[in-house]
Amino acid sequence: MILPHENSSSGIELALDLGIIRKYSIAGPRYTSYPPATKFTFPGEARELEDAILDDNRPGCGPLSLYFHLPFCETQCWYCGCNTVVTRRREAASEYVDDLAREIGLTASRIASARQVRQLHFGGGTPTFLPPDELARLGLLIHEHFSVHPECEFGVEIDPRRLTAEHVQALRVIGANRASIGVQDTNPEVQKAIHRWQPQELNIQAVSWLRDAGFQSVSVDLIYGLPLQTAESFARTIDEVLTLSPDRLSVFSYAHVPWIRPAQRIFESRSQLCTPEEKLAMFAVAHRLLTAAGYVDIGLDHFARPDDELAIAQRNGTLHRNFQGYSTEAGASLYGFGVTSISSTPTTYRQNFKGLPEWRRALAAGRLPIERGLVLSDEDRRRRTLIMKIMCDRQLDYAAVSRQIGVDVAHAYAPEIASLDDLEADGIVVRTASGLTVTPRGGPLLRVVAMRFDATFSPGETRHSQTL
Ligand code: SF4
Repeated sequence: MILPHENSSSGIELALDLGIIRKYSIAGPRYTSYPPATKFTFPGEARELEDAILDDNRPGCGPLSLYFHLPFCETQCWYCGCNTVVTRRREAASEYVDDLAREIGLTASRIASARQVRQLHFGGGTPTFLPPDELARLGLLIHEHFSVHPECEFGVEIDPRRLTAEHVQALRVIGANRASIGVQDTNPEVQKAIHRWQPQELNIQAVSWLRDAGFQSVSVDLIYGLPLQTAESFARTIDEVLTLSPDRLSVFSYAHVPWIRPAQRIFESRSQLCTPEEKLAMFAVAHRLLTAAGYVDIGLDHFARPDDELAIAQRNGTLHRNFQGYSTEAGASLYGFGVTSISSTPTTYRQNFKGLPEWRRALAAGRLPIERGLVLSDEDRRRRTLIMKIMCDRQLDYAAVSRQIGVDVAHAYAPEIASLDDLEADGIVVRTASGLTVTPRGGPLLRVVAMRFDATFSPGETRHSQTL
């Protein structure tokens, strides 16, 4: 079987045949970091990771990006892969902000006060589980301890089911100017199957509040590969969300990881899991409809209007990738706050405790709540550059990257480049003496190409989601 040839106005072709899907649909990292977070170790050397914060203040250091993980949700969506705490206990919000205040104090005291915050993000969980006054208190704490740039990109993940006009006003007052709205699918049958009831009226209301309050960018998150979805039903979902006129869309592949998220097992027991072929058909239809509507394919699962910063960065070759996905901010060190959040400096990654009690205990003892992390070797950093170039630029210019990382790429990585024979034969990449390029056909397989340069990856690994 050959899937319908999707030759859109953008020239992207998604006519992958079933053999190619089966061949490359293996579990693999999403490369929001390299090495991937699954390779972080439980360090005896937490001190080394803490010292990296002080080293990060070196002259010429980059700006700051802050991430706040707000983990609470009122109900459990069965597909969810996020680290959440499901509760209806309202006091949990203020207790959590108390602990965040401790973590902000401990972290900010190690960071040079002149460094400016250029990016801020509230993720979850459901950030608006926090009532408006607690959001305001958190915003105040951030502004008291950090120098936030007037043009800081401040994004918030929004669940329209848990949003009020007062939440939106509180978020605007503390500087939030970008929102991503979790929609997933507008089909009521699918919503029932995933335990997330969300009528389209709620989405319309949320967008209207956000636009009226002056949010500069509103994006919509969808998921394909959910129970009961078909390519036809997903096309209707796309049509409906396009009426919201989002600036960006993320069209994520459902990640089935029941060994991490046991709630997902319900889909197995009901035989509701989609096949890779069905998922690709859904992605193909989404790609066709979004590009036909004028959105630009940024990479993997992101789409943006041509005048959006992400699309401009892609055209200029200045796109970056971090734990929130694609980004325009170069060279920023990321400081994560809250349970499970990840931080990165140029030479380290570190992750907070995933459990609320452990995270809280460390803070009460006056310690940074580091559970695990990694000190990168020079070779890790070289490979990170190669992998991020593939993920963001879809190409490697050997001479340019060689200058950047200080080794002759064509020579030092000859085995990795030679390992692309099968991908080239299948039309996924094109190699020349001066570089390699991922073809439009290979767009959905960027992770597979990047994996060939990943020294930490072993094909039998099952801890990641499928690449398609
Ligand atoms: S999908 Fe969002 S709202 Fe649902 S459980 Fe996960 S984090 Fe909470």
